[in-house]
Amino acid sequence: MSKVDIRTARWFTLLYSLLSLLMLSALIAFSYATWSNVKQQAYESLTPHNKSLTRVVGRFFSHQESVLTELAHSVMIENKPDAFIQTRLDDLRRATPQMRVLAVIDTKGSILATTGNIHTLEWLDLFDHDQVIIGRPFRPTFVGENILPIRKPIKNEYGVTTGYVVAAYRLLGNDAIWQEAEEAESKRRSMIIGEDGRVYISYPESDTFWQSFVSQKVEEGFLNILAELTQQSSEWKTQGVQYQNENLLITASRIEAYHFYIVSGIPNDDLFSRWLERMKYVALAVLVFLIVGLFVFRIILNRASLFESSRNSAEHNVFKLSKAIEQSSSSVIVTDENWRIEYANKRLSDGDDISISLASGQLLLEHFPHDLLKTDIEIIRENLLNGNNWYGERSAKSQKQWFSYSISAVTDDLGHIINYMVVTQDITERKQVEMRLYKQANYDALTGLPNRRRTNGLLAEAFEKAWKNNQCVAVLYMDVDNFKQINNTFGHLLGDQISLLIAARLQQTVAERGTACHMSGDEFLVSMVFNSDQEIITLAENIMTVMKQPVLLEGKKLFISVNIGIARYPEDSADVSSILQHADIALNASKNQGLCRYSFFSHALDEKNKRKVELETEICHALANNELSMVYQTKNKINTEDVCGFEALMRWQSPRLGFVSPEEFISAAEEIGIIDKLGEFALYQACRDVQKFQHLSNQPLAMAVNISMYQLTNSDIVGTIKQVLNETGVNPCVLELEIAESMLAQHHEEVQPILNNLLALGVSLSIDGFGSGYSSLSYLTRFPVSALKIDRNFIANMVENRSDATLTHTVITMAHKLGLKVVAGGIEGEDQLALLRVYGCDLGQGTYFTKPLNFEQMTRHLKIQQEKPDWAI
Ligand code: C2E
Ligand code: MG
Repeated sequence: MSKVDIRTARWFTLLYSLLSLLMLSALIAFSYATWSNVKQQAYESLTPHNKSLTRVVGRFFSHQESVLTELAHSVMIENKPDAFIQTRLDDLRRATPQMRVLAVIDTKGSILATTGNIHTLEWLDLFDHDQVIIGRPFRPTFVGENILPIRKPIKNEYGVTTGYVVAAYRLLGNDAIWQEAEEAESKRRSMIIGEDGRVYISYPESDTFWQSFVSQKVEEGFLNILAELTQQSSEWKTQGVQYQNENLLITASRIEAYHFYIVSGIPNDDLFSRWLERMKYVALAVLVFLIVGLFVFRIILNRASLFESSRNSAEHNVFKLSKAIEQSSSSVIVTDENWRIEYANKRLSDGDDISISLASGQLLLEHFPHDLLKTDIEIIRENLLNGNNWYGERSAKSQKQWFSYSISAVTDDLGHIINYMVVTQDITERKQVEMRLYKQANYDALTGLPNRRRTNGLLAEAFEKAWKNNQCVAVLYMDVDNFKQINNTFGHLLGDQISLLIAARLQQTVAERGTACHMSGDEFLVSMVFNSDQEIITLAENIMTVMKQPVLLEGKKLFISVNIGIARYPEDSADVSSILQHADIALNASKNQGLCRYSFFSHALDEKNKRKVELETEICHALANNELSMVYQTKNKINTEDVCGFEALMRWQSPRLGFVSPEEFISAAEEIGIIDKLGEFALYQACRDVQKFQHLSNQPLAMAVNISMYQLTNSDIVGTIKQVLNETGVNPCVLELEIAESMLAQHHEEVQPILNNLLALGVSLSIDGFGSGYSSLSYLTRFPVSALKIDRNFIANMVENRSDATLTHTVITMAHKLGLKVVAGGIEGEDQLALLRVYGCDLGQGTYFTKPLNFEQMTRHLKIQQEKPDWAI
């Protein structure tokens, strides 16, 4: 649909109005001319018609008069009309077609001879007085047509009227009179009106016309008009008349001899019909033109109004847009294709808050802050030519300002850039907030070092760079020993100061060699590119050395030590999360070795770790699934070899992992914190079983149960043992708790009060595996133990190894001096037993006596021992 603007619509309106006016004027003029023409034609047709009619009617009447006159002369009323007269009458009537009846009557009106009967009226009544020749027209009922009577007097030789020759004429219908005067115009009216106004004949014959005129007289005015029209007999005039609600255009002539007017007329209706007939096509054409024009006019007006409203709304939008741009907080600049400013809304100010003025005609890229885009211009153009907008953020370092630029292009139909539109915003504030948020999210708030999240990113970047440069990256994951304890003991403020100090020391040590990060409270990480493991070891040792230096804080001297786990990219893994995982595994390995250690991740370590994870998963359900059981190993007197007690040892037959050594699953249970449940199980089982074993021996039997350090420090061991003793009814002196020496050495301060509480319950305590840990005899004085068990490794080698034998002997002697009983673990042979006997060891345990046996086996074993005859000893 083509658009029509309001100008075109106005032109069209004007044109249409003019044309319509013109056409209407033409129509009026044409109709007037046509009307005149119709009237002229009517006049022109009326005059000859009237002339012709006058001539025909005059001739007819004079002829009939002469015929009747002649007949009147030949008739003698006194003599009875004879057959000859009758014959004549008949001949005459036949000779004149218009004649209906011809008769001879006497003066009284009696018919003397006639060609027919007119029935209704008497002949004489038809004539108003003696003189008239033409009588009143009438309509005999049987004839059904209008008849005009004419008479001629019959006079005798004295000139006295003795009778009349009368004839009745039918002058209408197909009569020659009218036919002769008639022309094509069928609607023409013809009348014969007497000078007294009587209407003799009206043609064409119509009911209304007949009823209007026959037996009536026209009005005076009408008669006057006729008189006027016929004043000059040589001239025919026309005039409009109204008679009985009908308008007529008439002309008339007068026949003096008979005293009547011949009137020819055309009804105005007829004229109008003729006019309308001629006008109809023209009027229709004009009407069609007007309607079609109006229709087109309406369409054009509609389109124009649509166009106008869309233009108005477009203008309104443009207006709004321009206002929005004017008032926008962003700087909006329009340049030509050469970056020359065409429009700028002036919204930017520099770092000193001075507004930056950009004037039309200036080169945009020459002025701050758009000069920051100079190096990007090619990329921008390329982007825009590809139909994309370009967005960028640039900082003006000198002003410490940030700007964002959104650039779009305006192209012509051929795709050539004709304008650039640059929307620039000062985003300094937003950037500052972003930077603050970024720092919060990526750096440790206390130490300012990259946090765990950022570390991941940094490592990913470092690995990518290393991959490109074919380098290796070491990740040193470190954990500050006892940091939690420091925090708990000295408070978090001091803890924070230590964190800061560690971070500072770490950064100092690492310096340019790598990147230091703070993963969480007591965990730090260093990443470094390395060429040999020695470089890593050097750095790890440096870190540990630096950390070891005493710290003086608030008058306290503290010692910090760290354990380090090391994983290498790409040797150990190429992926950040698994490198971190591996470093953590290595760190755990270091921690297990003691304080201030470093370990490299190895796949064996990984396997061990996996195994540990597996164990930890499985051991959780072991107790509930009845996978755990207890076995017992006897403790025997060295001298007599009599059974004097047992050590309860736990066994786990896992359906998935098979037999798992207690050392493995006990430490896994400790790791995940379920050892107290397992220990509780061991205590109950051992106490119940020792009561049963007691029935099989004459000697008082003791039951030793191993207690792990976790049980001592992290569970209510005192409460548990009290409950076990209560529930099983075991005498407290029967129960002996074995605590590993290595554990006691590490946690001596923590466990001291617990051991005292246990002792208070009446149970006895012994040190297990003496010699494997610190082997300090000073512990023996400090702890309220009643026995110590020499580690089986010493016993194993004592026969061959002199120093082990000496050590064993010394331990036994010293222990005896302290009032402690000594148990030798792991006795496997006669030699070891003999030597221990020499050294005065009290008790022994080992496969020499029995291997660990389950309840049934031990029951059998005890029974056998019981049944042994005295001589068998
Ligand atoms: P332990 O307390 O030193 O237990 C003695 C270990 O020496 C037992 O190993 C025992 O089977 C073994 N043994 C005894 N006689 C000989 C011998 O003549 N030669 C050799 N080579 N070994 C001998 P087991 O049963 O494998 O237990 C290992 C460790 O697991 C125990 O060392 C103990 O620390 C721990 N453990 C065992 N059961 C429990 C328990 O119920 N609770 C806790 N907390 N620890 C337990
Ligand atoms: Mg033990």
